[in-house]
Amino acid sequence: MVTGGAGFIGSHITERLLDQGHEVLVVDNYYSSTRRNLTHLLDHPNIEVMRHDVTFPLYVEVDEIYHLACPASPIFYQRDPVQTTKTSVHGSINMLGLAKRTKAKILLSSTSEVYGDPQVHPQTEDYWGNVNPIGIRSCYDEGKRCAETLFFDYRRQHDLGIKVARIFNTYGPRMQPDDGRVVSNFIVQALAGEPITIYGDGSQTRSFCYVDDLVDGLMALMATDHEVTGPINIGNPVEFTMIELAELVLELTGSSSQIEHRPLPQDDPARRRPDISRAREALGWEPKAQLRTGLEQTIAYFSELSGT
Ligand code: NAD
Ligand code: UDP
Ligand code: UDP
Repeated sequence: MVTGGAGFIGSHITERLLDQGHEVLVVDNYYSSTRRNLTHLLDHPNIEVMRHDVTFPLYVEVDEIYHLACPASPIFYQRDPVQTTKTSVHGSINMLGLAKRTKAKILLSSTSEVYGDPQVHPQTEDYWGNVNPIGIRSCYDEGKRCAETLFFDYRRQHDLGIKVARIFNTYGPRMQPDDGRVVSNFIVQALAGEPITIYGDGSQTRSFCYVDDLVDGLMALMATDHEVTGPINIGNPVEFTMIELAELVLELTGSSSQIEHRPLPQDDPARRRPDISRAREALGWEPKAQLRTGLEQTIAYFSELSGT
């Protein structure tokens, strides 16, 4: 089962699982996605798609759960912040209850946002983070922190087979063109010849992982023995400023868009880069795609989508 399976990352996991011969139940309420991400898979004999909000109980029989349901882009998770927290907390309780009853393994797509605006750089899994509990990002950050707590308490109380992945910024085909994240925004703007919107002075950094690499990492984590619970950082440790990203997108699209600066949103982390030593050791995993190559694939996707 893939919760959030119609979303950007979830649709790639679903596709990969089907390719490997698994039967896949996709559970999604389309809060931050559309059916478009799955249309190419709907004729597959091994897929079943269910519209369902994970904040409500769900009784199905499954043996492995990728629990991804949760809006991930700041504009989507801030649109209905109470629902975002409910999705992480009530949604995780329900999926953990389901995993407990069915004895399924369950993987949580947690996030680098549990580190908040980090004071330790690069971020290691033993860093407890610097999160504002009452800011506009808290519904997402604290929701995921509580989801992690629930996962580890179900492990301690019920010995559940849990896997917690802390995902760092991931990009690729099937991001929503209007979801406001930096990679999709810059590409959509560049292709349309509209101004590239850099928030703040653009010196803030992120480390971008191509979706195929991320899916490899999540699947390797799911395949580990019962002892391996994480949390494990999954991301690409190569760090870029937003100015560098904008320049690369302009170069690769050949766009003549101008750069425009907009106010920096509240609590926007100044820098972010994963330490992936644990993933290398426990999973034998590291990302392969360079930003340039991954962006080319993503630009091709958005070009096709917009008909440019
Ligand atoms: P996305 O918004 O494309 O996908 C999330 C999916 O969850 C969507 O299809 C959405 O409709 C669904 N969803 C939301 N609330 C739901 C609910 N209550 N019930 C059922 N479905 C619901 O985002 P994504 O980038 O694919 O992110 C997937 C997961 O990975 C999320 O949990 C996110 O927090 C995590 N993550 C992503 C990134 C990233 O850079 N993409 C980074 C860190 C963590
Ligand atoms: N739950 C679910 N599907 C299941 C089993 C449980 O959605 O197959 C939900 C149910 O709503 C429950 C929650 O998961 O409240 C937590 O389940 P658990 O067994 O841990 O707790 P309890 O049922 O004792 O509250
Ligand atoms: N950002 C930007 N222009 C945009 C969208 C985002 O400069 O059009 C910045 C944003 O302020 C942040 C970084 O890019 O510093 C990454 O933003 P995103 O929303 O993609 O992810 P997150 O902040 O959750 O890492």
